[in-house]
Amino acid sequence: MLILVINCGSSSVKYQLVQTDTGEALARGSVERIGMSGAVISVFRHDGYEAKFGAEILDHIMAIEQILSYLVHPKHGVIKDKSEIEAVGHRVVHGGQKFTSSVLIDEEVIANIRQCIELAPLHNPHNIRGINAVLRNLPGLPQVAVFDTAFHSTLPKRAFLYPLPYVLYRRYEIRRYGFHGTSHYFVYNRAIELCGGDKNKTKVITAHLGNGCSITAVDGGKSVDTSMGLTPLEGLVMGTRCGDIDPSIILHVMGREELSLAEATALLNKHSGLWGLSGTSSDMRDLIEESKNGDKRAQMAIDVYCYRLKKYIGAYAAAMGGLDALVFTAGVGENSPLVRAKTCEGLEFFGLEIDKKANKATVGMEGLISKKSSRVKVYTIPTKEELVIAIDTARIVKESRKK
Ligand code: ADP
Repeated sequence: MLILVINCGSSSVKYQLVQTDTGEALARGSVERIGMSGAVISVFRHDGYEAKFGAEILDHIMAIEQILSYLVHPKHGVIKDKSEIEAVGHRVVHGGQKFTSSVLIDEEVIANIRQCIELAPLHNPHNIRGINAVLRNLPGLPQVAVFDTAFHSTLPKRAFLYPLPYVLYRRYEIRRYGFHGTSHYFVYNRAIELCGGDKNKTKVITAHLGNGCSITAVDGGKSVDTSMGLTPLEGLVMGTRCGDIDPSIILHVMGREELSLAEATALLNKHSGLWGLSGTSSDMRDLIEESKNGDKRAQMAIDVYCYRLKKYIGAYAAAMGGLDALVFTAGVGENSPLVRAKTCEGLEFFGLEIDKKANKATVGMEGLISKKSSRVKVYTIPTKEELVIAIDTARIVKESRKK
């Protein structure tokens, strides 16, 4: 089936046109700076052709309209007519407790996703905007919502409850949900294929290290713990997000600096993490370069990042009572031998030995980066979230046609 995968942010729409029979992405790209001056549409075709265009794009409806017009464009496009697209799959960030798997979108589903806005005010409104924009541009086409939280719906209560008054969980569903579910699901399954283990007995840790970072413990095929929480702010050090901190810090700083709620939200989400620590960049490539040139703060930011990641690996191995494989994925995980080596340094005591040469050679591709003698296998696996969304969308649409 030919599936258009859509990932809507506040001012951007990322897209990928996937043929699920072959798993091939025919085209992908994005629209950036929606509603601002100088919006840009990019197209990357499967045959290597690339193009970028400027346009006036006021909202998500116009963004989807533009994406469709480039997909069918005689010079830049890959299909003849938009009717060739059989369904649209949306990445939806928060499914709350309602959605434990992907669903065909109807009015009731949209209403329920809207209810989850309270849990994800920074994400879900844009996802709904994307769904409505497709409704306007491709009326009648089946749409499927694939939730970032769904893979983590198997977390046991001891992992998802916060030690807060229980009434907050009852009344407001305040609990750990976890995110990046499609990515953790994909790389976990690929790791099982690679190590040939029995899924029911294999214990795997997957580390998704992009601009947002999260780490998941998967035991017997189920996500049993994950570092992001009620929102994607908890856990590891990220590009601009702080991850775990003493919750009192924010109350303390809000008082001292007289910050509003919006300012405090921005401080934690946009001005912290690698960016906050280094003061120069949220991009790991820049920090590695700067630290090579002797920048002490860039070095410190990398140190904090890797140290906290290592602590989570230890914690999740303890939580599962063992570890068979560790997977690195996403921008930093797939491309940075330095971060992988620094994170795994000192973990030889529990049978995890990195092969320096293999680690260095494995950049932007799949590979085993642990030594033959290592009891824990360590892999680098490029994530394919869009493929997971496309395959799930195709499956759900096919099932709905049978009914
Ligand atoms: P997103 O979460 O936006 O999808 P990505 O998965 O693309 O993000 O990851 C972005 C991060 O990956 C950035 O911090 C970037 O610096 C980092 N990255 C990309 N290539 C490299 C590299 N060669 N070395 C180190 N970090 C890299």
